[in-house]
Amino acid sequence: MNPITAYEACPECDLLLNSVLPKIGEKAHCPRCGLRLSRPSKQSVERTFALSIAGFILFFPANLLPMVGITIMGNANTGLLFSGVVALFNDGMVVVAIVVFLASILFPLVHIVLSLLISGHLYFNRSNCYLAHWMRWMHHLDEWVMLEVYMLSIIVACVKLMSLAQLKFGWGLYAFIALIIITTLLTSGLDNELFWQRIEQLRNRNNNAS
Ligand SMILES: [Zn+2]
Repeated sequence: MNPITAYEACPECDLLLNSVLPKIGEKAHCPRCGLRLSRPSKQSVERTFALSIAGFILFFPANLLPMVGITIMGNANTGLLFSGVVALFNDGMVVVAIVVFLASILFPLVHIVLSLLISGHLYFNRSNCYLAHWMRWMHHLDEWVMLEVYMLSIIVACVKLMSLAQLKFGWGLYAFIALIIITTLLTSGLDNELFWQRIEQLRNRNNNAS
C-alpha cells in the first residue's frame, strides 16, 4: 500500500477513511458498507494518451468531411457538422445554435486537447504548473460534451427524410461515430485518483528539485 495522503468520506455511508491508492490489480472497499472506493486501472495514462491522440486526429474529418448527402428531386446537398449550427442560426434559433456549437464542436475539442495535454505530461513525466487547472477544467467540461445528443438528432432527421429523399452517408459521419466512441472511452477509462496522485508526485518532485 502507498503512504496515507489524506482523508476521504465514503460516498455511500459517510465513514471517514484514510485515503490510499491501492496498487494496480488491487481494490479498496469501504469497511462499513462494502462500497468499492477505487480500483486503479492498468495503464490508464498510456491509454488516455493514445485515445486523446486518436480523438484529436478524428476531430478534423468529423468536422470537415460531409456527414450526409441528401438528394431531393434532383437537387443534391451535403451536410457538415457545422452546417447544422448555421441552419439553426439562419432559422433564428440563435441560442440553440450556440448551445449546439458549444456542446458538439468547441467543448469536445477543448476536452480532447486538455486530456491530450494532461496525459502527455504524465506519460513523459513532465511537470507543469497548469496540470491541476487542466484537470479541473476537464471535469467541468465532462457534463457539457454532448456528442451523443447531436448523433441522436442526426438519426431522427435521417429517419424522417428517408421517405422523401435519397440519403448517402459520408466519411464525416463515420469519423463522428468513431469520435463518440473515443470520447466515451476517454471519460470512462480515465483513472481520476491515479492522475491526481501522479500530478502531485510531479509537483513534489519539482518542488524538491528547486
Ligand atoms: Zn461506506
